[in-house]
Parts: sequence; structure tokens; C-alpha cells
Amino acid sequence: MSPLTMLAAVFTPGTPKPTISMESIAVPIPSRNEVLLKGEVVDVGEDVSKEYYSDGSIWAVHGPNACGHCGQCRRGHDNRCVGNRLQFGLGRGGGYAEYIAVPASSLVKIPEGVPVEIAAVVTDAVLTPYHALKTLGNVRASDRVLVIGLGGLGLNGIQVAKSLGGFVVGADINTSKFDLAKQLGVDQCIDSTDQKAMDALGGFDVVVDFVGINATFQLGIKMLKSGGRHISVGLSGKEFSFNSKALLIQEGSFQVAYWGTSWELREVLDLVAAGKIKPQVEVKPLSEVIQCLEALREGKVLARQVVVP
Ligand SMILES: [Zn+2]
Repeated sequence: MSPLTMLAAVFTPGTPKPTISMESIAVPIPSRNEVLLKGEVVDVGEDVSKEYYSDGSIWAVHGPNACGHCGQCRRGHDNRCVGNRLQFGLGRGGGYAEYIAVPASSLVKIPEGVPVEIAAVVTDAVLTPYHALKTLGNVRASDRVLVIGLGGLGLNGIQVAKSLGGFVVGADINTSKFDLAKQLGVDQCIDSTDQKAMDALGGFDVVVDFVGINATFQLGIKMLKSGGRHISVGLSGKEFSFNSKALLIQEGSFQVAYWGTSWELREVLDLVAAGKIKPQVEVKPLSEVIQCLEALREGKVLARQVVVP
């Protein structure tokens, strides 16, 4: 029997700025096709088999909350679902709470050997680089891969690209991140403001931009070799500009990555279980989520933070 109330971070839109506060709110009641989740399934809606979820398995949630029947979902692109369902934490209750109600169709079983706090990071900060590099970038063994931006996603991007067999160079303006990148397997790190050194690198088959500003976009396009793919993951919402000849002459391509599919989430959880990707996390109590967000805003987080109830 679940308690009636739970601790949750509540976001309130407003001016001059929105607020977020820790509050005691009602535990959500799962609707017909939903389950109530606290790592394991603790309650189910009337159309969901309680028996199926009664073995104590721990579940991850595929964040896009895909409908499963729109054209994009039917083609296997459930990260692009156009079923107009609200995403968790974006219009409906998210993960900064002790319990969450989600459609049973959004659950992906966490394989044995993957700690729950690692799986939490995999659902976004590993899944997104995996989708960008494997599916969109089509990275193959011996491909030259440039990862721009060595933050939480970029460090996972390095490991994904290495697991796919690429020769991986990491670029950032902050050289203090290079030691950790090297521990995680990057072949070479480079200060992206050092133009001479960048020019000496030669071209890349795949460039993934985890920063997403005009300067990194232009840098990425410039670093592509013939037929290269530029994938943008981080997006600042600002406009990009470039000379189209830069892509035209060498038949390069530019694509934007959005999250990842539920199938990719299963694949990448298996890679983590096999020890091929080791996400870096700092674990904090749920009650400190506001301080965690402040630290993130101030650029004090090297990899990814996870809050646990
Ligand atoms: Zn859909």
C-alpha cells in the first residue's frame, strides 16, 4: 500500500522568473494503462496485469512517452512521437518525486548488474549520444569522430563512439575536463580555441556537437571530411549560419538529434551492463534537488547528478 503523500519538487511558471520548491503532494493514482513506479512497480491501473510486474524488477522509463500508434511510432521512431502526449516532467509529473505514474508501455526493464542510479542517467544522458552517434552518425570501426563539448553528454558520447570502434577526439574550451575524458577512453583531446591545432587534425567522418551554439556549429561543419555527418545534440535555441558551399562541395550532411528510441534504450542499457559504457554520476538525496539544479546552472557539475528518494 503506497502512502497518500510524497516529497516532490514542484515547478511553478511565473514572472519575473519561475520557481521550484520542495513540497508534500499527493501520490499520483495510475490511470487505466499506467503503473505507479518507485524503481519497481508498486501499483497498476485496471488494464495492466499486476502479476506481470510482481517479480520485483526495476524499471527505467522511456522519456518521450510515445503513443505507440502514430506514424512515427509505427516506423520505429518513437522518440519523434507526434501523438501529442505530455512528456514526463514537461507538462505532467516527472522524476523529481518519490513516485511517478507512467504508461506501462513506456517501461524498459533494467538489466541485472546496472545500478538504478546509473540507469537513471542512461535514459537521457547516454541514450541521446547513442542515438546521435550510432543511428544518425552511423559510426563504424575506424571512423574518425570529433566530439565537441565534454560535459555530461559529451563524456558519454566519447564512450559510445569508442564502443562503436571510432577514433575519437574530444574538443572543449575547458581543458580541465581532459583528464576525465582520457580516463574514459578518448584517443586525443584538443583545446577548441587553438585554431592551429584544430587545423592540423584533418577531417572527420562524424562530428557531434554537444554545445549547440553558432561557433561550435561552424567549427563542426569546417571539421567534416568528404561525405561527413554533422549531428547537433545540444541546442541553444539561437540561429546558426554557415556558407552552404562548405557542405555542398563535399556532400556533407547536417542533422539534429532528439533523445532516442525505446529500442536504443534497451541496447544502451545492455552496453552499460556489459561494462562498455561507464556513466559518471554524483548521487544526491531528492531533498537536495534544488541545490543540484543551482550547481548545474553555475557549471559546477562535471558529469551528471542523480537524485534518489
Ligand atoms: Zn506516437
